Amino acid sequence: MTTSNTSTRKAAVIGAGQAGITAALGLLDAGFVVTVYSERDQRALRDSVPATGTALIFGEAQAAEEALGLPTYLDRAPLHSGLTVRVAGGGEELIDFDGAFDGFHGLAVDTRLKADERLTTFLERGGRFVVDTVTPERLDPIAADNDLTLVATGRGGLSGLFEIDETRTVYDAPQRSLLTVTVTGLGYDESVFAHRSPAGGGRSGFSIVAEQGEGWWGPYLHKDAGPSWAFLGWARPGSDWEKRFAAADSAESAHRIVTDLYRDYLDWDLPEVLATEVIAEDPHSWLKGAVRPVFRRGAGHTAGGHPVAALGDTAVAYDPIAGQGAQSGLIQAQRLVTAAAAHEGPFDTAWITAQYEAFLEFRAEDAAKVTRLFLSDPEFAEIGNQFFAAAAADPRFASALVSTLHRPQAAHSVNSVADAHELIAAVTGEDAATVLGRFRPAGRFSRSQYSTAATTA
Ligand SMILES: Cc1cc2nc3c(=O)[nH]c(=O)nc-3n(C[C@H](O)[C@H](O)[C@H](O)COP(=O)(O)OP(=O)(O)OC[C@H]3O[C@@H](n4cnc5c(N)ncnc54)[C@H](O)[C@@H]3O)c2cc1C
Repeated sequence: MTTSNTSTRKAAVIGAGQAGITAALGLLDAGFVVTVYSERDQRALRDSVPATGTALIFGEAQAAEEALGLPTYLDRAPLHSGLTVRVAGGGEELIDFDGAFDGFHGLAVDTRLKADERLTTFLERGGRFVVDTVTPERLDPIAADNDLTLVATGRGGLSGLFEIDETRTVYDAPQRSLLTVTVTGLGYDESVFAHRSPAGGGRSGFSIVAEQGEGWWGPYLHKDAGPSWAFLGWARPGSDWEKRFAAADSAESAHRIVTDLYRDYLDWDLPEVLATEVIAEDPHSWLKGAVRPVFRRGAGHTAGGHPVAALGDTAVAYDPIAGQGAQSGLIQAQRLVTAAAAHEGPFDTAWITAQYEAFLEFRAEDAAKVTRLFLSDPEFAEIGNQFFAAAAADPRFASALVSTLHRPQAAHSVNSVADAHELIAAVTGEDAATVLGRFRPAGRFSRSQYSTAATTA
């Protein structure tokens, strides 16, 4: 259905995760009459499910929220000032660097908290909220009754309405098994993870064990416990870590598995991990699973032929290793709202497709590329080797490399080792060979001397 009368335009958003509710609030503020359809009521969205993911976001995604007039949580969440990285493999401790974020902070807000607070604002401003599990049959009359219908039901839900884009989808299966758990017990001062960076608990920390997978710790804002820490682990198919992750069945067991993992494989960070405690009031403070990275088509159609637009994880699903999913959904939501507010014609298949293609070009394709780089995808393995060695040799390049999580577009033109060398030279102002010539293997990572007596949680 279409109308060009801007004062009466109607929009429906299916799914009240952070992408859906952010777009709904934006459309409401842009003058649309907006209805959000959710399979769960507000209380259940907050308290009966785990967070969809860690949802660490950086400067560009925060700018998208600001552009919609929404709070960024910069004043509430513990901030990340950079990322420290350690790479081990073949029994060797190989690469060690500390990358400062260049002009922005990272922050990870519980997706349940953000969606809940945005839903409250949406209702206060006159938005309509309907608790209904929308089926493809039910979607048809909804799309018929609205000028614009956004489908933001996550990776499952109604995503099957949108055809997989085989030209952009490179994996036929998940590349890692995931385990995450949120905990308390650690503060953010310089004594926490001091062996990784003088910035201590202001950094998040990433460790790669080539044969097993990756582990990450970072400051987090939990819906009940407030400032806390999140662990996120990736296990390679067939690895010991994969077996361990599969055994998690509660927050307590996930926490135990992570503690044992650090004792057995990542002992340099063990004292901090031993200081952490499960969040007793939230039985959903953990999650396991796997994500197949998938690009879908931006426009789908209901049985009656009404066009609907995919948003957030419904449109593009990323492995979380480079923290792109939540960021992508927020930026896509802001772009869609801005374009819809300015558009006077129908929100037809051509309009939806044009917005989506522009978004893929603007960010999503580069976000997927950086994700592949951090996943050690064989196609990017040699580029990754050069980048990580340059980061270890030069703090300017370390900063540039970790800042690709915020602006993945920096990797757009890097498709070969020669391109990688060009970027290293552009960032450092030195010949890449000179920078790489300074690289020395780590030898042995410094071990944590952290003691709980030295900090407060
Ligand atoms: C382990 C892990 C870690 C992650 N870490 C990061 C990170 O650090 N940084 C980052 O940017 N991204 C990260 N991500 C990705 C990020 O969490 C997701 O991209 C983001 O939260 C998805 O939001 P969404 O609103 O698109 O979908 P969802 O949060 O899945 O919301 C979809 C909503 O739709 C509802 N729904 C489903 N079906 C229906 C239906 N038929 N009718 C009505 N409602 C329906 C669901 O109940 C849900 O509320 C991570 C993901 C994982 C798995």
